[in-house]
Amino acid sequence: MTNSVKKGTLFVISGPSGVGKGTLVSMLREKHPEIKLSVSATTRNPRPGEINGTHYFFLTKEDFKNRIELGEFLEWAEFSGNLYGTNKNFVEKMLKDGQNIILEIEVQGALQVKNKLKDVILIFIEPPSFEELKERLIKRCTETEEEIQKRLAIVKKELEQKHEFNYVMINDNLDTALQNLKTIILREIDGIKNK
Ligand code: ADP
Ligand code: 5GP
Repeated sequence: MTNSVKKGTLFVISGPSGVGKGTLVSMLREKHPEIKLSVSATTRNPRPGEINGTHYFFLTKEDFKNRIELGEFLEWAEFSGNLYGTNKNFVEKMLKDGQNIILEIEVQGALQVKNKLKDVILIFIEPPSFEELKERLIKRCTETEEEIQKRLAIVKKELEQKHEFNYVMINDNLDTALQNLKTIILREIDGIKNK
């Protein structure tokens, strides 16, 4: 018997830390909770208010490395001294069940997904300027000054990869950016459904 469920669409949303990926994705999912979000694993410490299994699966470095060996990650990367990765089984199962799913990940991981899977829509979110990005990270108050500098130090390199993405959009005015993101995602879902 053939499986008649239409496969879901995988979206990768990437861009520099502090550009607003998390903000945009959570606003989008408030209106469209049917679009699923993959919860990543990380070795970084939880921020105040972050819940294990909701924001991330918080793992020790040893546990994370074992899981790399076991092939549990679709992609993983070291970012600012910590490891981050996407669970492969979860993503495969969701897509097979016809669910549309978002990965909100940094650039190295996004490019790994691009190389591994052909059916993926990659969206790069750009800041309006470097200064504004810095402001956002400072105002977010989640990292130390040193940690913010580490994240800012790789922004130029991250921006150089944006041509690898299917879509590049700026998060300047939040409402406009949300509308743009929504349009891209809903069009892709509809377009693929109607093919
Ligand atoms: P990321 O997930 O990309 O690291 P966040 O979603 O945490 O970024 O956003 C970083 C900070 O910038 C947050 O404090 C958020 O409220 C703020 N922010 C997001 N988008 C905008 C915007 N368009 N204008 C101003 N501030 C924004
Ligand atoms: P943060 O420490 O601010 O939560 O995340 C740092 C960066 O890691 C962000 O750009 C975030 O999108 C990215 N990230 C989160 N989960 C993953 C993941 O599973 N894989 C990769 N490659 N990056 C991730």
